[in-house]
Formats: sequence, C-alpha cells, structure tokens
Amino acid sequence: MENNILLDVQDLVTQFKLDDGILTAVDHVSFSIHRGETLGVVGESGCGKSVTAFSILNLVSPPGKIASGKIMFEGENLLEKSKHDMKKIRGERISMIFQEPMTSLNPVFTIGNQIDETLRVHKGLSRQDAREKTIELLKLVNIPLPEQRYREYPHQLSGGMRQRVMIAMALACDPQLLICDEPTTALDVTVQAQILQLINRLKRQLGMAVMLITHDLAVISEVADRILVMYAGRIVEESPEQALFEKPLHPYTEALLKSVPHVGKGTEKLYMIEGMVPNLLQKHEGCLFAPRCQYATDLCRQREPALLQAGDRKVRCHRYTQEWGNSE
Ligand code: SF4
Repeated sequence: MENNILLDVQDLVTQFKLDDGILTAVDHVSFSIHRGETLGVVGESGCGKSVTAFSILNLVSPPGKIASGKIMFEGENLLEKSKHDMKKIRGERISMIFQEPMTSLNPVFTIGNQIDETLRVHKGLSRQDAREKTIELLKLVNIPLPEQRYREYPHQLSGGMRQRVMIAMALACDPQLLICDEPTTALDVTVQAQILQLINRLKRQLGMAVMLITHDLAVISEVADRILVMYAGRIVEESPEQALFEKPLHPYTEALLKSVPHVGKGTEKLYMIEGMVPNLLQKHEGCLFAPRCQYATDLCRQREPALLQAGDRKVRCHRYTQEWGNSE
C-alpha cells in the first residue's frame, strides 16, 4: 500500500501573521492519500480544512505562509517547486473545485470557451480538438444537450449544472488528484446527492484520487474511503469510513455525527454542538476541545493529548491513552 501513496503531507504548519498575533491555522498536520482513494476531511468552518487544501496547491497568500512541513506528491516536495512548475501541476495533475462555481467561472465567456481554453493551454489542443473534447467532458458529467450548453454563458445554467461544468473543467487535464472544497454546500439536497454520485462515479471511472472537504459528515458517508476529522487546525481523528460511522472515537466526531439529520425521521430536532471553535490567536492549555467536551477531566484541561494510533485508526484524546499507549 505504501507505494500506492499519491500525496503525503508531512507535519504541515500554515500560519497567518495578523495584527494581534500569529494564527496557526494548520498545526503539524500529517496524512496521506492513496491513488484512487477518496479522503473525506471534516470539521466546522475555521478548523483548517480549506487552508490545508490551499497549502497543498501552494496557494496560501500573505499574510498566510506555510511555516514548515513537506507536501510530497508522487515523491516530489511541492513546497520546493517554482511558481511556474506549481502552475503546471495545478493545471495538469491536481485540480480543485469550490463551493460556489460562479466565483470560478468567468461570466463573460461561454462554457465552451472556458473549457476549451484550459485544454488549449495545458494540452496544446487545436481549436477543433478542444471543442470535441469539451463536448465529451460535458457528456461525461451528465450535462444534457452538451452542444447547446457549450454555447451558453454561466448565468444561463442552474447551480447544479454550473457545478457540473466546474467538474468538467477540473477534469479537462485528467488530474490524478481532485480536491473538492464544500462542492455541494450551495446546492439543494437532491442536487447535492447527484453531484456526490457524479464525483464517485468519475473517481471510479477515471481512477483518480479525491480529497473531499466538508463541514457535513452526511455528505461523505457514502463517498469517502477514509475520513480525517479536523478541529482547531489539528487532526483529532482518522479512520476508515465505516468504522468511524459505526464507532466514532473522538468526542468531537461523536458530536458531529449526532448533528447529522436522519432521512425519514420527520421533523427531528437537530443536535447542535455547544460552544465555539477556540480563538487560535489566544494561548490555550490542555485539549482544545475541552470547553465543549462532555467527558472533559482535569487532565484534559491541563495537558494537550497526543495523536494516538491503533491499527488503521488515530485519535487525539486522553480517554484512549491508557488503552492505546502514547504513540505520537
Ligand atoms: Fe474531551 Fe478530554 Fe478527549 Fe479532549 S482529551 S476530547 S476534553 S475527553
């Protein structure tokens, strides 16, 4: 399995230098993604998920800065690449789609124009070949009447269709890794399910790896092979998907799972995790989740737990120290 690693993030630290101090948005984060695998990254907003994705693409802009760590992609450290090389990697080997496609699509160009452009710049295709490939891509992402949509502008499409166009554009250069940052948050539930099924089908069909970032555990329940749970810039749990849903280990994961609505339960009162994500500009002692944790003890408030590992699962919580031993 080790040789199958596509992306290996090692001890990544990304910080923002603000007027009131240094904010460590990603704090010694390590994880890997295997070829063809879908890794779900979950946590509330402000937990460092998107900053991790931007760090992988080397797109953190001032006042943000990657302070340390390595991002190994197919054995090469992306943090040592030149701007020019990174631009090529972003265009051809790693693609990213965002929550709101309108921010990434240019309103003054047709859909066809925008995908053609990507193909001509990165693949060197002729005008005619780019057009054919674009229509093929629109079919691949299940856009009805692709020849007609090719000539249309982004505002003429629904939110779900625009997200499909973004996916088509992201796939134009056959990336090995597709990073999806909250790809369905702006969509209604039915369209959300369709987009997730589409990402899942494309992953299998094209053999690419997917990093799916979301605040909503329900979104990744059917799609992810493995899940990382992030809290306050740190990984607090890592687990195969099924095991995490059957038996969440970290109290934060447990709380996130309780806040997932159940289909068919009528008007259900949704569980809310009380309290707020900590202000990372302030100094904290002990476990960062302690103020919101129903199991917190004096030890939790005094000493930060290490990330413990047992088999294919990891958890950062004192409740497992005795059973698992300290492995960080
Ligand atoms: Fe809760 Fe303590 Fe575990 Fe932190 S270490 S999650 S406070 S039980």
